[in-house]
Amino acid sequence: MAKTNVLDENYEQLQKKIQSLNEKWRSEVSEVTLKGMENLAASSPIIPQLEMSINIDQYQTFIEELLQLIGQNNTEITAAAEKIKEIATSDILQKWFTEAIAVNHFYFKNFAEENNLPEWLPIFAAEHAARPYLQAATAELEPRLKEINHNHGCHSCGEPARFAVINKKGKKELTCPRCLHMWEEKKISCAHCGSEDKVVILKVEGDESAEIHACHKCKGYTKVIDTRKMFKKESPTLLDVKSIHLDYIAQEKGFGISDDEGHETH
Ligand SMILES: [Zn+2]
Ligand SMILES: [Zn+2]
Repeated sequence: MAKTNVLDENYEQLQKKIQSLNEKWRSEVSEVTLKGMENLAASSPIIPQLEMSINIDQYQTFIEELLQLIGQNNTEITAAAEKIKEIATSDILQKWFTEAIAVNHFYFKNFAEENNLPEWLPIFAAEHAARPYLQAATAELEPRLKEINHNHGCHSCGEPARFAVINKKGKKELTCPRCLHMWEEKKISCAHCGSEDKVVILKVEGDESAEIHACHKCKGYTKVIDTRKMFKKESPTLLDVKSIHLDYIAQEKGFGISDDEGHETH
């Protein structure tokens, strides 16, 4: 694994395009219908406890647009996209949506195997195309999310908390890359298990604004970027992508290595 220059130019460009596509989708998803609010447990995450109805044709369009974007100049992806178009009935897409919300790696791995598709592709497409709905649902749930005494990770969708900024008030604010929910946490505490005394701060040579908060108790880590030290304001999602070198550093030191249920590796 290269220690420097890990931020490949093409990778960043592609991530930016996926990001713009996501923003376009978000503007097209006006609202989602959430069922099961009355039976919500007091614990988080909330969204996996609810039933979300969406427009499946629209979800299908999102998947096709994404495959078209990442399939440019890549015949393997283009062929896989054709195949998905043939086999994905609305029942299958409904299942994709549900399993994408639950981040069910097992289901998608089997689906890829059975249909002879690249292993990473179905979950990548299904999960990205589900994000605008997650984001719309999270925006609707915001008042409720504020009341919740949350568990660790995103209390809307359950994603592990991997990225935070130090905001204008000097507080550590975590942002979920999937549903865009934001919340503040104690500065020195593990965003995964809550430990306060087992957290170490790793500094990055030559970069004043970046830190890695790594936990010796659960082996999780969070990247923390001090945006007060930056001239240019950028969205947390983009800062997350741009700081991928911090993920390499943390993972090289043995933190955040994904197990079978983790959804860390992409
Ligand atoms: Zn989330
Ligand atoms: Zn921890």
